[in-house]
Amino acid sequence: MSARPRVCVLHVGGTIGMVRTATGFEPQPGFLQRYIAAMPEMDRPELPAHDVVILEPLLDSADMAPEDWLRIAAAIVARYDDYAGFVVVHGTDTMAYTASALSFLLPELQKPVILTGSQLSLENVRSDGREHIITAILLAGTLAVPEVCIYFASRLLRGNRAQKIHNHDFVAFDSGNLPPLASVGVSVDLADHLVRAPGTGKLVAPALKCEPHVASLRLFPGVAARLLEQVLAAPMQGLVLETYGVGNAPSRDPALLAAISAATGRDVVVVNCSQCHGGSVRQTLYSTGAALARCGVISGRDMTPEAALTKLYCLLAAGLSPAQVRARMQEDLAGELEPD
Ligand code: ASP
Repeated sequence: MSARPRVCVLHVGGTIGMVRTATGFEPQPGFLQRYIAAMPEMDRPELPAHDVVILEPLLDSADMAPEDWLRIAAAIVARYDDYAGFVVVHGTDTMAYTASALSFLLPELQKPVILTGSQLSLENVRSDGREHIITAILLAGTLAVPEVCIYFASRLLRGNRAQKIHNHDFVAFDSGNLPPLASVGVSVDLADHLVRAPGTGKLVAPALKCEPHVASLRLFPGVAARLLEQVLAAPMQGLVLETYGVGNAPSRDPALLAAISAATGRDVVVVNCSQCHGGSVRQTLYSTGAALARCGVISGRDMTPEAALTKLYCLLAAGLSPAQVRARMQEDLAGELEPD
């Protein structure tokens, strides 16, 4: 009989492993590990074997910062050769950012890295976390999906295409521009044609060449030129501008457009991403979008703002020049962008 594949479960935080305290839910070290150890399903031969590794400090994902993306990536690289796949147990609030960042930090994957969490803590009798953990381990150990994914509510989504869309429903994530890589019902149905080809398997622990300054700004009616001037002021290097519809912005305020032009003239990379959950940016369709293109704003096409922000961060952190960052932002690096 062949040996069971082995999966590494990295616990980094989130509601799933939290307990109620006097000041609200907080991660409790050891709780998730003890809970999983007590689950009878974990010894079943059809489920991959697993080790649980706690990455301290366990965090509410609202507290996560780019250094935590690097910490998680480094933990995967350090154990990469020892496991068939990885499950990252993470909070839902910023899971789409971490999944996107990991997809850019680990470009040569040959194995699945699956983030999961839950809407209700395992402490709750109706928690959605129990099935998420079991299925994520199963998929990480058995599926030929060499990608960073999110498993949630019976769907395996490409991580850099996913967004948190609900804070109450169990269906907390969706991918507006790409169908699920796998749908999990009575059987696991893999959409083979969507899955990316494996990389070389040679992973390197990401190292920061510099500390990037990036931001995102969601446009709103009445947005003042001064606000954009302030956001785009030095040392800002990259901005995700979250625009209306197919990439439109207010075009009747010359000061607003001048603020953007001045920034792109100083080599700040400004990327246009839509506030809409589905569809693509088309900067030439309306003159309000074309105005942005004339200011030097590049189209983020169908990238999520989460993917665009983390991509900007990773490219700048790798020490690329502004011209290189502009070029690579418009290339598909990890399945985050529609083909041209
Ligand atoms: N605030 C929690 C977190 O993101 C929410 C969750 O996990 O669902 O860590």
